[in-house]
Amino acid sequence: MYDVDICVLGAGPAGATAALHLAKAGVPCLVVDRAVFPRDKICGDALGSGVLPELALIDAALPGRLAASSRQLPTWGVHFSAPNGRGIQLPALPAFTPDTPPGGHIIKRLDFDLLLVEELRQRPEVTLLEGVNISRQECTADGRWLVESADGQTRIRARLLLVANGAQSAFSRQVGGHALDPAHHCAGLRVYYRGVRGLHPHNYIELHFHQEFLPGYLWIFPLPNGEANVGVGMLTSAVAAQKVNLRERLQQMLTQHPALKERFADAEPLETVRGFGLPLGSKRRSLSGEGYLLLGDAGSLIDPVTGEGISNAMLSGRLAAATARQALAAQSFGAGILATYDDAIHQNLGRQLELSYRMQRLLRFPRVINFFANRAANNPRLSDAITNMFLNRDLRQQLWQPGFYVRQLLGPRRGPVVRAGIRMVRELQRWWRK
Ligand SMILES: Cc1cc2nc3c(=O)[nH]c(=O)nc-3n(C[C@H](O)[C@H](O)[C@H](O)COP(=O)(O)OP(=O)(O)OC[C@H]3O[C@@H](n4cnc5c(N)ncnc54)[C@H](O)[C@@H]3O)c2cc1C
Repeated sequence: MYDVDICVLGAGPAGATAALHLAKAGVPCLVVDRAVFPRDKICGDALGSGVLPELALIDAALPGRLAASSRQLPTWGVHFSAPNGRGIQLPALPAFTPDTPPGGHIIKRLDFDLLLVEELRQRPEVTLLEGVNISRQECTADGRWLVESADGQTRIRARLLLVANGAQSAFSRQVGGHALDPAHHCAGLRVYYRGVRGLHPHNYIELHFHQEFLPGYLWIFPLPNGEANVGVGMLTSAVAAQKVNLRERLQQMLTQHPALKERFADAEPLETVRGFGLPLGSKRRSLSGEGYLLLGDAGSLIDPVTGEGISNAMLSGRLAAATARQALAAQSFGAGILATYDDAIHQNLGRQLELSYRMQRLLRFPRVINFFANRAANNPRLSDAITNMFLNRDLRQQLWQPGFYVRQLLGPRRGPVVRAGIRMVRELQRWWRK
């Protein structure tokens, strides 16, 4: 039996980040994970632009350690392919030289999560229990949480639970009220390959928006040693409505699609296709209650357009640690004080998730994507914007400015036409919000 103030359930990016920020502030915590690290996690393995700053906030040396690892691959751009087959190459920065900083990194979760867990193992403030599967939780009469492992060997009493046990969290469903909502949930598949032909020399990540998967996409992300992470994500409601067998459809695409079949002709799958869910942050939900906070996937915080969840998970870990410290200082773990976490998440992620959800709804229309892809091929500013959508979330803001589209599409000097266009897009936005 452990009796602690703070227990973190799950040592993925959300839980590990929370525990490391607590440790940095000298606050002890107990971290428990059912896996023994290194462990795999079904994922695209792409680290978006938000991850390096989060790593640096844990420890300024961490981004350098990641970049120096032979297990990661830097990426310098995005290859975007539209439903009409048009492919556009979108460099992260206009000109490439060997010194150009990469737009992101790709690293198997086996290795990335271990990087964080190794930090946890070194911190005296952190007690890490691996291989402990928590299967039961109960709020006791004194307001503390009692959690217990499936084998009954481990029991933990905690005043505050930071729930970071991922997309299948029973706590989120049973206590937090996060039932799986097919309209705000994505089904994802991943399979590692070796020998995919035609990967970009600067390790571009590939996003293939085929009509069959919209508003989701098929991805090919290069990895070190000639391997690639190949997968697909599709809205769970669309999978159900179209009665799709996603595994079969992915296989069909790789073996029959004219743009892919040659590239996969001699490629060797390194595992069977494996699936996992992505709880999307396209719907605002409560993230706290009496004595608990929901972090990362357990709080449904994945970006609804890109499927990116690692950086949001880390951000939520950092904000949860700050709230936990406030609660500890006030010696109060009630729902009132913990609700500041909801506010902090909303302030930091609310706008981004809202914008992404709107974009996701636009991406359901193949003609819209084709239109932008056709234009972007000859319009560097528009192609920059599409790149930023995937590699730079701050710049995503500009994608919801009506003037931006109109200027990209009509050119900067057509004043009255541009103004009329802006009014029209504003009208459309108002209609959309309704
Ligand atoms: C197919 C797919 C592709 C994706 N691609 C990307 C991508 O390219 N880039 C990106 O940024 N995001 C991607 N994501 C999303 C990303 O994987 C998640 O958002 C991210 O892993 C969330 O981190 P987390 O710490 O919240 O949860 P997790 O990483 O799932 O960690 C949860 C931890 O809790 C532990 N745990 C679970 N249950 C228990 C239990 N009962 N008791 C104890 N411990 C438990 C697990 O062992 C695990 O270590 C993808 C997701 C999927 C499914």
